[in-house]
Amino acid sequence: MSSPVLTFLGAAGAVTGSKFLVDTDTSRTLVDAGLYQGLADLRRRNWTPFPVPAAELDAVVVSHAHLDHCGMLPRLVKEGFSGPVVCSPDTAELVEIVLRDSAHLQEEDARQANAGGYSKHHPALPLYDLADVERTLPLFAPTDYATAVDVAADVRVVLRPAGHILGSSTVLLETAGRRTLFSGDLGRGVHPILRAPADPPAAHAVVVESTYGDRTHPAPDPEILAAAVRRTIGRGGTVLVPAFAVDRTELVLLELHRLMEAGEVPRVPIYLDSPMALRALAVYRRALDSGSLQLRPDLDAVRAALDALRVTGVPDAAGSMRLNRPGEPCIIVSASGMATGGRVVHHLSHQLPDPRNSVVLTGYQAVGTRGRQLLDGAREVKMHGRYVPVRAEIVDVPFFSVHADAGEIVAWLGRAPEPPEVVYVVHGEPAGSEALARRIRDELGWRAVVPRLDERVRLD
Ligand SMILES: [Zn+2]
Repeated sequence: MSSPVLTFLGAAGAVTGSKFLVDTDTSRTLVDAGLYQGLADLRRRNWTPFPVPAAELDAVVVSHAHLDHCGMLPRLVKEGFSGPVVCSPDTAELVEIVLRDSAHLQEEDARQANAGGYSKHHPALPLYDLADVERTLPLFAPTDYATAVDVAADVRVVLRPAGHILGSSTVLLETAGRRTLFSGDLGRGVHPILRAPADPPAAHAVVVESTYGDRTHPAPDPEILAAAVRRTIGRGGTVLVPAFAVDRTELVLLELHRLMEAGEVPRVPIYLDSPMALRALAVYRRALDSGSLQLRPDLDAVRAALDALRVTGVPDAAGSMRLNRPGEPCIIVSASGMATGGRVVHHLSHQLPDPRNSVVLTGYQAVGTRGRQLLDGAREVKMHGRYVPVRAEIVDVPFFSVHADAGEIVAWLGRAPEPPEVVYVVHGEPAGSEALARRIRDELGWRAVVPRLDERVRLD
């Protein structure tokens, strides 16, 4: 019998594209099937065939519903994967929403690129379409937390809450008596709805994220957002908030509601221009009503805030187009969070040239995304084949981060009942991963390694 092998097929030296393959003598399990986002070199990897025949995968385990963890599932199905997709029940619900939207964006981008003639590919094709998503959804095998499930004859998996977004999970994978823990994306313990991540169980190896591996989140300062809204409304402008449709939107809306209730910002209309975010909001609402164990115990105030939210949903494209010229000061919340696609791109092309407006960035902006370019002070940004001047005010509000920072990750690891033999640091830009590995060595005294892309390691 040969040893089980872990291959880092994505999110190694980068924040997106999470894919970890576990091969044993008789089975192949993939943990996360994430899409690459950001730099063109990375996105090109989405198009290379999966390195092993997709039909040979016994199962895919999905940690949570963000695209960089689940966005390649329909592509794998297109290439022949037909096994179960193991994830928490809330993740299954949210992934369905996210994948339908993703397919729609892929088809739309290809259509516009062909019509505008600005694609390097002729004709531009979608990575996958809605039909591929429809073939993916029946494969979902929702699994409760803290319940062992055999995903292959020799591979057992247990999910635990990761406190990052609703349904997010850490994944403990056991094969041949060896346990490997995948952190997925780790929450912070300060989420207004979700409980802190469950403590790590004992494992021989840990694969941990490092999105903020070289950073400490500043103490939350609600004044940054409040002041930006006041300034913008004061000069008659529009506040545009690109937000991840799942979770970030909920946090942004709750905070805007709180600021308005407290009289910190003027009451102006709030538009939620993202069909995906509207659907995700409904899933959160249902979770609140069902008393899910992932949630904080006392959420009466959150429930009341959600009930009282005066938000205008914008389900159709015509309504979205009208918002490009809103005609009155207002706040528009729209996806995607890094402005890589979706309706927010149209809003940006209309709002950015006007210095009265502001764009409020609410989360991690990966290298190569429009969000990162704005954060880095770009004077023009390319959208739909044209350059648009950036005259609007750009405001970074780290307040809403749902990723643990370096200290929070080290503290979480340190709560393991016993030290692992090795920690693999992934899902970060190189400086972040290296910095976190150093802290794990220095502060916990554990072996910590930053694996290379496509590197293979033995799990025995
Ligand atoms: Zn995530």
